[in-house]
Amino acid sequence: MAQPLKTNPTPQDYVERNGGGATIVPAGQLVLDGHRMSCGPWATIVDPNLDDYGKSYPQFVILNMPLFAKLPTAVKLWIYSHECGHLFGGPDENKADCFAVRRGRSAGWLNAQGMDEVCSFIGAARRDAMHVSGPDRCALTRECFRKVPPRPGPVPLPSPKPAP
Ligand SMILES: [Zn+2]
Repeated sequence: MAQPLKTNPTPQDYVERNGGGATIVPAGQLVLDGHRMSCGPWATIVDPNLDDYGKSYPQFVILNMPLFAKLPTAVKLWIYSHECGHLFGGPDENKADCFAVRRGRSAGWLNAQGMDEVCSFIGAARRDAMHVSGPDRCALTRECFRKVPPRPGPVPLPSPKPAP
């Protein structure tokens, strides 16, 4: 989930260069497990050959859907939002992690259980140039979770089944 930014390709540049089944999902049209996700004016590229779950370039987010298929919903939405956080907030990984938490809280898709799932996902990652160690990253991300209030108002209940 690092951000290898040497150039500033457009989504079209990326698809032309990488080919191999990569396609562009226009801004506002990405749907992950029934959740419509957006990242400002920026499109998403779905690339089955991406070497990670997600990546970002300054003008778009890239997701690897075959890898996503095995993840819990909250983790999928969190990864997309983390990459989106880079588009809004630059290369800082912890900022991107907190951006994703804030999004999840305000949109209502990140609860305590989802936070646990996110932590087991990032907790397994090793420390590298861009990321602190998994457990540290998890602790920092949980701190953001504690600071951000959940979506105000009542939690929407599933609609009642129509009477037979
Ligand atoms: Zn990142």
